[in-house]
Amino acid sequence: MSDLRELYQEVILDHQKRPRNFRKQEGARHVEGFNPLCGDKVTVYVKLDGNVISDVSFEGSGCAISTASASMMTESLKGKTRAQAEELFKTFHDVLTGKDPREIDEEKLGKLTVFSGVREFPVRVKCATLPWHTFHAALEGEESKMVSTE
Ligand code: ZN
Repeated sequence: MSDLRELYQEVILDHQKRPRNFRKQEGARHVEGFNPLCGDKVTVYVKLDGNVISDVSFEGSGCAISTASASMMTESLKGKTRAQAEELFKTFHDVLTGKDPREIDEEKLGKLTVFSGVREFPVRVKCATLPWHTFHAALEGEESKMVSTE
């Protein structure tokens, strides 16, 4: 298990150092999110083409977990339908908020499984889920809303 944990840590650090889709999008839906417990700030930009997420990106500053989570989230969501995105958000949220570990669907989560270890650090769970809550609000069109994890 420790090898696996090391691998997970490497993936998270790689995304923190080189966040994917870290850019602003003019004219895209966007929502700001804030995690006061840690100080993480993220703005998520979403572009839809009909029911499909044609582009998703983010900007902000935060800890390694929140940055890596936002980076991997954008990679996972691009090209998905709204329904698929909502399903992935739910699965990710269930895993991090401590649903029975035996029920983790790694196939469904794919690379996002690296965040399953975050469960052991309750303070960090909000760092990892912040970008997702923010994305969810943007998808719902709650542009004026400021998402806070508290
Ligand atoms: Zn954080």
